[in-house]
Amino acid sequence: MNVYDSARMADVLAPLGFAAAAGAAEADMVILNTCHIREKASEKLFSELGRLRETKARRTEAGKPLILAVAGCVAQAEGEEIFRRAPYVDIVFGPQSYHRLPEMVARAARAGGAVLETDFPAESKFDHLPAAASAGVSAFLTIQEGCDKFCTFCVVPYTRGAEFSRPAADVAEEAKRLVAKGAREITLLGQNVNAYRGRRPAGGTANLAELIRTLAAIPDLLRIRYMTSHPKDMDEDLLALHGEEPKLMPFLHLPVQSGSDRVLARMNRGHTAADYRATVAALRRHRPDIALSSDFIVGFPGETEDDFEATLALVRALRFAQAFSFKFSPRPGTPAAGMADPVPEAVKEERLSHLQAVLGEQQRAWNAATVGRTLPVLFERLGRRPGQVIGRSPYLQAVHVAASETAIGETRDVRITAVTINSLEGTPVNPVATRACA
Ligand code: SAH
Ligand code: SF4
Repeated sequence: MNVYDSARMADVLAPLGFAAAAGAAEADMVILNTCHIREKASEKLFSELGRLRETKARRTEAGKPLILAVAGCVAQAEGEEIFRRAPYVDIVFGPQSYHRLPEMVARAARAGGAVLETDFPAESKFDHLPAAASAGVSAFLTIQEGCDKFCTFCVVPYTRGAEFSRPAADVAEEAKRLVAKGAREITLLGQNVNAYRGRRPAGGTANLAELIRTLAAIPDLLRIRYMTSHPKDMDEDLLALHGEEPKLMPFLHLPVQSGSDRVLARMNRGHTAADYRATVAALRRHRPDIALSSDFIVGFPGETEDDFEATLALVRALRFAQAFSFKFSPRPGTPAAGMADPVPEAVKEERLSHLQAVLGEQQRAWNAATVGRTLPVLFERLGRRPGQVIGRSPYLQAVHVAASETAIGETRDVRITAVTINSLEGTPVNPVATRACA
């Protein structure tokens, strides 16, 4: 979502004459768009600011100003604290106010910095953003933001605010514009994207399945994906759509966090391990080849060896095509940060590497199983080697192919010949463009 937000910030600033610079040294303004989800992500901000302080000093000496801004969830959560620790920062603003950037830049120029915008504005930024200036073959589109679920470990409800869905017609309009600018795949984004309930033009609200059906009618849009979903919001309509809509790609990122019901309850996830297994079983009934992805947290306060074993058991039973796993990171202001029985760092590390070994093995096996198969690949960009083009399989695997640049933006059948750690290699079986993956 930060990638999407950063692109929108560039769109908002374009009318003021700003364009992308080659690097910080050449820039008149630098915006650090930050993530607060885990401590490590958050800490990066201050080390990066230290470096930019020197850049700013060098430019100031040369008579060239540099506006330094901090955006995103760290800005939202830490606000004033950023000015205290880094007084050379000019603007600090949260994820809901970036449509006001032109005004903030003007205010910072007048007042010599110290502009803070971390209130949740009454108006929606989406109503004030200009159309995207450009789009890649694979584009992001935010349709939902915020969260009302309050998992005990998570900062999102505090930094992104309450759940909000964009009206269905606005999403369709933005999707059409992206496709007109060259997008062939759209990933619908939201912190809880499957909790989407967007106002319909004819009254009532559309759920995610209905929205996807509407978008699937856009002729040149070949592929649709969505993330991130919550297990509780995987309704029957959406599960069934995976078996019905050929443009909806067979990949689902569905974070489970833990395989232990005791831990899931303390996390306030609102589902059990059995609920999750049942959802995956239903999904596989509708779309047997679906690639399943997830997030895991190890070392949540009070997590015992048995709890961790339950997570491993769930992983072994369900088999994931890919996954992200993290050590629990206590976040200030969240209930879990103060919970009893913290798990020692060494135990967290041991459990994380154990889990990652199992997940890594499953990912390798999943990728290896595609060797010899022919998959429709949507080509997105040039690779690093001359004559190489990189695309994605329906299962979101990166596929490296020797092909002409003219293939970019098209879907072609590719025979998979080899797997590397994170990607596949293949050769086009038919140089003629094919349709979307069925
Ligand atoms: N809305 C999604 C997840 C959003 S946050 C969901 O409900 O599943 C992305 C991922 O970061 C989470 O799935 C979780 O695995 C991880 N995460 C969030 N807070 C964390 C914390 N305090 N410590 C470690 N990992 C965390
Ligand atoms: Fe965070 Fe996701 Fe839980 Fe919301 S549902 S609080 S975003 S982990």
